[in-house]
Amino acid sequence: MPATPSTNSRTLRNRLAAAVGRREEEMLRLLEAMVLQQSPSRYKKGVDAVGALVAAAAQPLGLCQTTCEEKEFGNHLLLRTSAAEGGAPAILLFGHLDTVFPLDSPFTTFVDDGRTVRGPGVIDMKGGVVCALYALKALADCGLLADIPLALLCNSEEEIGSPTSTALFREEARRSCAALGFECGGLAGEVVTGRKGRSGWRLSVSGRAGHAAFAGKDKASAILELAHEVILLEGLNDAERGIVVNVGVVGGGIGPNTVSDSAFAEIDTRFLRQDDALATAERIADIAARPTVAGTKATLLATGSRPPMEQSAANTRLYGLIKEEADQLCLPCAAELRSGVSDANTLCHAGLAVVDGLGPIGACDHSEREYMVRASLAERTLLAATAILRLHEEGWTRPAGETGGR
Ligand SMILES: [Zn+2]
Repeated sequence: MPATPSTNSRTLRNRLAAAVGRREEEMLRLLEAMVLQQSPSRYKKGVDAVGALVAAAAQPLGLCQTTCEEKEFGNHLLLRTSAAEGGAPAILLFGHLDTVFPLDSPFTTFVDDGRTVRGPGVIDMKGGVVCALYALKALADCGLLADIPLALLCNSEEEIGSPTSTALFREEARRSCAALGFECGGLAGEVVTGRKGRSGWRLSVSGRAGHAAFAGKDKASAILELAHEVILLEGLNDAERGIVVNVGVVGGGIGPNTVSDSAFAEIDTRFLRQDDALATAERIADIAARPTVAGTKATLLATGSRPPMEQSAANTRLYGLIKEEADQLCLPCAAELRSGVSDANTLCHAGLAVVDGLGPIGACDHSEREYMVRASLAERTLLAATAILRLHEEGWTRPAGETGGR
């Protein structure tokens, strides 16, 4: 008697689970090698070495491999199945190869106590890259990979804002139908359906220098003007709308006996909605344009931004599918709105359905306490493999009206 489609998919999922299970130790060994290779964003040699480990591990899959050479930063690695090479809209998996830990960081070991694994980048996000790669291996082991239009993009400089790979993400967004990101999952199995956006600014104030002892009422102190502006800027915080404005660095002047003729501040802003991004930028420009201290002048320079990953209907629909797969596997899964930015922001802004945070579960990333829940490496790999299979089975298409390049 022929099997019904549901029995078929159940059998396939069991085979995928067995395939992932067989490779669990191999995954941990690759993760160990990746973690022991230091790869701060500006250390090209180290980041390239991590990329080489991924490329070597992917070799047996016979994918089309492209290395996007970079001079200053590490190279980006792009892998595509033959079905994606043929031009069909692909499911895009993504993760980064760099970490935030500098070369002189004392946090350089890989410690596996059987329950947790500690090391720089175990969850942020070398563990996530291993999940993505081994989801492909599990699909290949079951003879399913070649038919699925799928791409894996590993970039080299996410932790410093993806200065060179953002264009690559935009380009891939146009060729894709959905995207799965492998930043770490939350401790209760959270995956990310939305992220705040971010904009950075540098505010420079100029005044008129003079001897402090002889300064009169017309004293044009750049520091005094900056102080006024800092208070106005901090006043733009709006917890209800999720708007954050933080003056994180200030400087200026040359000595206590001199009226300062220059001062500066570095500002970080976060927002949930693009409207709020524009409105906040306008308010900041307005503050800079109206000095309180006569004789001073302020100029504003944008130092980089990422649009918010809004919790769109498409993201929610994609999350629903992943949640159903997680339920089938009896794995925890919940939707989370995360404050930090990632490359998911770029993809979502380009009109793609994105769910991020599909990597292994853990906590304390960006600190020397960073750890991964050991079992979640295989669990999240299986979840990724079944979610990819489901997207393919359902013939997931890009939501109407979302054509990219927004
Ligand atoms: Zn990070």
